[in-house]
Amino acid sequence: MIKPVALYGCEIWGTLTARIQDKNKHLYDIFKEWEAESLNIKFCKYLLEAGKKSTNIAIISELGRYPMYFSIIQNILLYWHRLQSSPESSLLHKAYTENINLNQGNINCWYKNVIYYSKKINLSLPECKTYKNTFLKKQVKKHLKKHFLQYWKMKREEGLESGKLTTYFMFKENFIMEKYMYIKSHKIRKSICRFRISAHDLRIEKGRYESVKNNAGQRIPLDRNKRICLMCNQNNIEDEYHFLTECPLYTEERDKFFRDISLLNKNFILLSKGDKFLWLMSNEDNLIITKLSEYLVKAFKIRHNAMSFHK
Ligand SMILES: [Zn+2]
Repeated sequence: MIKPVALYGCEIWGTLTARIQDKNKHLYDIFKEWEAESLNIKFCKYLLEAGKKSTNIAIISELGRYPMYFSIIQNILLYWHRLQSSPESSLLHKAYTENINLNQGNINCWYKNVIYYSKKINLSLPECKTYKNTFLKKQVKKHLKKHFLQYWKMKREEGLESGKLTTYFMFKENFIMEKYMYIKSHKIRKSICRFRISAHDLRIEKGRYESVKNNAGQRIPLDRNKRICLMCNQNNIEDEYHFLTECPLYTEERDKFFRDISLLNKNFILLSKGDKFLWLMSNEDNLIITKLSEYLVKAFKIRHNAMSFHK
């Protein structure tokens, strides 16, 4: 319902040069500031109840939902296809020919950006002329996907090195909709999603808002490796791994949770802590996802109560 309204006329406004500030950027980075993409992200966050501050790339990755620019570029190229094959005597075709002339004179115009988009996704326009409409649609989609997934893999590699999504990308290996999205209970989906994408209150996340003074006396966010768990005295970073596998505050709940999981998979208990974490976070079994969600809800409640006690 909303998509056709949001994209109405995109064959034209999607090529406006003023909107494409830096042509060297990846298409995702060009379009991410546009209204259509903001709307898409807003909708996804609402759907996942993930909170406004959650990371956009993690949000679309959990849903395996491709950015809106896919539809914009597809519409532009299909419109181009229609124009170039329209009868030469028609007004539309004359306008199209005029655009080709402008482009040959190196003047910024609609056609110049059609070429730009097709080159970006490695699609040959002369070849596209020989395609039928439906085949062109498929080809554009295929090229857009390939182009985007290369970018996503690069972001994943960078994310594994450092930043907010380091843990996330350890268990998120592919851009596909996660199986837990099909679970009916929105409570389960919400708790799993928030934990996976770091939209939670653990210090690894909230610590970014704790400012400390550096040697020059300036206030800077607390370093990631100094976001130590305040719920125990293990001197470990309070991240998803610590919360799920080692913080003693939740030992009772965790022991029960791990016992339940061992009944479902007897090899679980033999895994190392690191492997237990990855196995649980990437698990696609509804029963195990449900058990994980129950642990998360209970443990976060214990943490919340402990926090109020400390206050
Ligand atoms: Zn702890």
